[in-house]
Amino acid sequence: MVYPQPPMCGIVGLIGAHDAAREAFLGLTTLQHRGQDAAGILTYDADGFHRVKNIGLVESVFTRENMETLTGSLAIAHTRYSTIGRGDVIDVQPFLLSYPFGLGMVHNGNIVNCGDLRADLKTKSRRHLLTRSDSEVVLNLFADGLAKASNVNVSESLVQFDDICEAVGHVFSRVNGSYSIITAIADQGLVAFRDPSGIRPLIWGKRSSQGSEQHMIASESVALSFLGYEVVRNIEPGEVVFIDMKGKVQSRKIAGPALPFRPCMFEWVYFASPESVMDGVPVYGARIHLGKNLARLLKDKIREKAIDADIIVPVPETSRIAAIALSEELNIPYREVLIKNRYIKRTFILDSQDKRQKAVNLKLSPVRSEIAGKRVILLDDSIVRGTTSRKIIELMRAAGAAKVYFVSTCPPIQYPCYYGIDFPVGAELIASGRDLKEIERELGADAVIYQELEGLENSIREGEVCGFRPCTACLDGNYPTDISAAGLEFSNRRKVDRPDQHCRKEKT
Ligand code: SF4
Repeated sequence: MVYPQPPMCGIVGLIGAHDAAREAFLGLTTLQHRGQDAAGILTYDADGFHRVKNIGLVESVFTRENMETLTGSLAIAHTRYSTIGRGDVIDVQPFLLSYPFGLGMVHNGNIVNCGDLRADLKTKSRRHLLTRSDSEVVLNLFADGLAKASNVNVSESLVQFDDICEAVGHVFSRVNGSYSIITAIADQGLVAFRDPSGIRPLIWGKRSSQGSEQHMIASESVALSFLGYEVVRNIEPGEVVFIDMKGKVQSRKIAGPALPFRPCMFEWVYFASPESVMDGVPVYGARIHLGKNLARLLKDKIREKAIDADIIVPVPETSRIAAIALSEELNIPYREVLIKNRYIKRTFILDSQDKRQKAVNLKLSPVRSEIAGKRVILLDDSIVRGTTSRKIIELMRAAGAAKVYFVSTCPPIQYPCYYGIDFPVGAELIASGRDLKEIERELGADAVIYQELEGLENSIREGEVCGFRPCTACLDGNYPTDISAAGLEFSNRRKVDRPDQHCRKEKT
């Protein structure tokens, strides 16, 4: 059996705030770009846990009435990125478990060996899982580890930090994949940890007001700055941070599998908000560098007379920043002549090929008067299936463009992502098994120019003492963790799901 995987998401945790639910709600709105499928908030106070979750955008899930039920100064929250299909409410986070202590959990990432872990939990730990989410698997493993560790310290009414570390160590020793996690423990506090490769982001902030301290942990720094929290630091790969109900903070690097720090390059290319600083590297700055590195490649093409362009046009929204830098470097005018209908969701997220193709027409309108007769450099953040790119090129030609050169800020995506970005498998990726000429033909472009891998890595690292190489596995096949379990699952998925392409188990 193949289970749906929780995809990219935004997560938030708060402790000490007077109205934690309100801040969680505002935090989620700043992370809405990370997930538009469903949202949930869980709070805790003397009356116990309180939870509201549903399918839909943050603003539609929460109402004045249901927000009033979310009392307490401890909160965790989640906004979910859609896979194919919508999913059931039961799969919407935060998840909750009564034992030990009472645990709530939110997760951003994707578990590669979920099938094996699920089977073990059933047969060895006698745990019956209620949802099809891999986040529930992590929650149960954490609970197992914490129950065993805290039973040893049964005389203590407060959870011991050593016990939390043991539980996180239990997760690290079993779970393979990407996971940034925030957990609320009833009467005890907030726990945050990040997988040993640090593939998904997690950042910690602090604020002082009226003589007390509040802490916030979130997927991106934009959530902290929006709510007036000062950044303390990023949660490090393999680290656990525990903030108790009195605000005391303890942290430790857990001895887990020795894996290199590999944050996902796609956060800077596409996913993260431009205001955010991810693992010390500003997203906006990285996108400027992506444009400048592309300019170096394009200057060669212009010198060779392979390209001669009148305007540079960004495909909204993500590629704007790189397109401005490209325009400045090449001294070719920047024109926003593809106008986006902002009320339609990202096509990357829509749940079938047919819907994606129709959505492109609904989503973008060309400004004909500015395009007709022009030779256009179109800049997009990436080319995945090529569906959207082909449609946009058709739109530009229908609007009278004399030439269309398609430029991608990301190098060719050739391999699937097992860590939470919703790429398809194998042949559905346009760059998989095709050379550049074939891609140009498929897209109907006069030329296709990709960012080079080195240019991408330099763009993320340039000017920053970041001390890491980003994960680029979908570009070069070098996965930071063992993916053998995923290989089986993905090949099963293709056999099971591809005939109708509507199964929500497959990444889009
Ligand atoms: S495989 Fe690609 S999309 Fe997935 S985590 Fe690595 S860099 Fe990001």
